[in-house]
Amino acid sequence: MKKIILLYCLLSTLWLSAQVEQSYYLSDNHPYNPDIPTPQSVLGYEVGEWHVSHDRLVQYMTALAQASDRITLENRGYTFERRPLLLLTITSPENHQRIDEIKAQHQQLTTPEGSNLAVENMPAVLYQGFSIHGNEPSGANAGLLAAYHLAASEDPETLTLLDEVVVLFDPSFNPDGLQRFAYWANTNRSMNLNPDNNDREYSEVWPGGRTNHYWFDLNRDWLPTQLPESQARIKTYIDWLPNVLTDHHEMGTNSSFFFQPGIPDRVNPLTPDMNQKLTQEIGKFHAAAFDELGSLYYSEEDYDDFFYGKGSTYPDINGSIGILFEQASSRGHLQNSDNGVLTFPFTIRNQLTAAFSTLKAVKTLRVSLLEYMRSFYSNAAAEAAKSKQKALVFGNPKDPAGAYEMARVMDRHGIQLHKIRQSSRINGQEYPEASSYVVPLNQKKSRLIKALFNIQTQFKDSLFYDISAWSFPHAFNQNYSYLNDSKQLGAPLTPLQKPEGTVSQKGSYAYLFEGHSYYAPKALYSLLSKGIRVKVSMFPFTRNGVRYDYGTYMVPVQNQSLDADALYALMQSVAKDNALSVLGVNGGSTEGIDLGSRNFRAVELPKVALLVGDGVRSYDAGEIWHLMDTRYEIPITKIDVRNMDRVDLSSYTHLILPASYGRGLNAFKDKLKTFAQSGGTIIGYGATLSWLSRNELIDLKFKTTSRTAQNIRFDQRNLFRGAEEIGGAIFNTKIDRSHPINFGIHSSYLPVFKNTELFLEPQKNSYDNPILYTSNPLINGYISKENLQTLKNTSFFQSSRLGSGKVIVFTDNTNFRAFWYGTNRLLANALFHATLF
Ligand SMILES: [Zn+2]
Repeated sequence: MKKIILLYCLLSTLWLSAQVEQSYYLSDNHPYNPDIPTPQSVLGYEVGEWHVSHDRLVQYMTALAQASDRITLENRGYTFERRPLLLLTITSPENHQRIDEIKAQHQQLTTPEGSNLAVENMPAVLYQGFSIHGNEPSGANAGLLAAYHLAASEDPETLTLLDEVVVLFDPSFNPDGLQRFAYWANTNRSMNLNPDNNDREYSEVWPGGRTNHYWFDLNRDWLPTQLPESQARIKTYIDWLPNVLTDHHEMGTNSSFFFQPGIPDRVNPLTPDMNQKLTQEIGKFHAAAFDELGSLYYSEEDYDDFFYGKGSTYPDINGSIGILFEQASSRGHLQNSDNGVLTFPFTIRNQLTAAFSTLKAVKTLRVSLLEYMRSFYSNAAAEAAKSKQKALVFGNPKDPAGAYEMARVMDRHGIQLHKIRQSSRINGQEYPEASSYVVPLNQKKSRLIKALFNIQTQFKDSLFYDISAWSFPHAFNQNYSYLNDSKQLGAPLTPLQKPEGTVSQKGSYAYLFEGHSYYAPKALYSLLSKGIRVKVSMFPFTRNGVRYDYGTYMVPVQNQSLDADALYALMQSVAKDNALSVLGVNGGSTEGIDLGSRNFRAVELPKVALLVGDGVRSYDAGEIWHLMDTRYEIPITKIDVRNMDRVDLSSYTHLILPASYGRGLNAFKDKLKTFAQSGGTIIGYGATLSWLSRNELIDLKFKTTSRTAQNIRFDQRNLFRGAEEIGGAIFNTKIDRSHPINFGIHSSYLPVFKNTELFLEPQKNSYDNPILYTSNPLINGYISKENLQTLKNTSFFQSSRLGSGKVIVFTDNTNFRAFWYGTNRLLANALFHATLF
């Protein structure tokens, strides 16, 4: 013990005296232009002594760009918290003079006209991005030094590099997260650094700095592009099409340094082999640099290149090479680890080393990288020309807004979309002009289109770092069909037009609109919150030969807080904003239920609370917050777990419990029961289901898959266990469209996303099972045979009365990563229609 204490004292003195100098990162002998400000001269401390906050990072990059003719700085937009999304373009002043020409020529490489370009004379384009997870800060902090070096180095090798490479330098992929984490690490830093892992510095408060403002993992949004950070970044990506993109992360403190290639068996089959070969070639440069530095590293383990929604994989389906870096995290300034004391400067130096080895690799492999990009696109064009399938049509016959949202994502990725030539029935589905899109397949982004629509249910490997399926038509619940000719190709949609709704005429009796628009819940809330009475139909009906679906909304003209003219004006604005087709009517008779029927039921204004805080899955909570706040514009009160005991729940109609981990809820068991018994609705997701059932708020019967290992060796146990996990796949459910939980959904089958191993026995009475997995439910992705067997015919949703209130449960997430538009409606219906079932 004494020895340990002595050693500890020795080491602490060492850390105390170990002031970081710039020479720790960059050689003193290197020729640097003294007119270029060092990070220290602007920040007032050496990189690594404190965690750079985003605003200080902006300050430094601005100073650097002002001082250097090698850098142009642009702001591409703002995060939710209004932080700028900066991009530095770094290259030689000569290249800057003709940057538009370079860009145009680079783009030409991906078109038929590019076949004659002399790539030997063209610069390569490298996109370097840092710290997409805000609490993985060594990347962004290393970026300060990398940018300084590129601006200030007078070394001949750097000068050649700047001639031969255009660097798109993204100093902080996630400004809001970086700021949140820097605040945490700096606030808790002791002046005498303390490596004790138990120190508060190394355990962030919920939700931590990994995510962006609404608690999204930005490194899953490269394909969905639902968040402003991704939208700005993808725009740069599409404008430039970089040859290589690097993505600097951190991993567990006891690890070392990882660079790609990842696990060879788990590369997405749509990625060409040559991509992985070049990744390996680039990897040799990292290995050499780390050998020289003496830092431990590894590759071809742990991480994979399967899901194109990650920064290191998205480039792989776009003719580029995506590279993932993972550095063991000091998650603060200094921590004990299996590899000794891990200092923040050490993690920064490794990231800087990888940034430099990337530059060297891109400079050296420039011609091969440019040629690879050209061949990627010419091969893709040749494949598309040979293919029998010439186009794709997708759409939702009743929901122009939902179809538009999917089209918008494709448009962001540079995919050309067209109108349908005329409303048609194709393979049994209706494709009206107003809500259908045609995608020609012989276009530049043909492989990316394939990746968005691809179905894969057979896999070489049964482990996934992330989800195994993401097909867009299922996520957005759109009908789609491949076409063998281009006859349906209508006018090109550049730019895309947001659909707008209308009111047919001023109604003297009522206004009617079906519930199918994606934005119907927003419209509903907007009307109810203005005190307008709205009713909903429990049955379909027909009026003047037109059929109105279950869940049609009716706004009576009489006895409203607005007079007939003001109501008409309001209906017009609500219809326009939410892509609704509203019918103004002058009488109440229909074939079927008349408008005065008791089967038009009142819709009540919900007042919604959401449980957040320790123990709650922040992603799931953030998705709900984001959905309500940014899409439906429904106010939602975030109640922290630690304040639950003093909040009066009786002022809320609904309490949403996102997937949460047990114990935190125990303290409020009685409170939740009382809330429901006195008329409140509890909505539970995922991991809260077993808690709700155990505590008798709802009676649920779970099915389980049990499998015992046979002939599985010790070193295979993780593969065995992992194969039983559902990392994220897409399954089909059959829905009862007459049930209010399904109002507004146009189809009888609803694809759902599943990433839990929760399987619910259906209820006894068929009418209590409005959403059931089909008997052949797998649409896309990986699930073990045993789990698939168990999943068949189980429930996705259940509800049960508790006193005068209700408990509603969903086994899986209806709001996954903000791009599962197709099932968002279920949550909205639980808010507006819970009293109807
Ligand atoms: Zn990360």
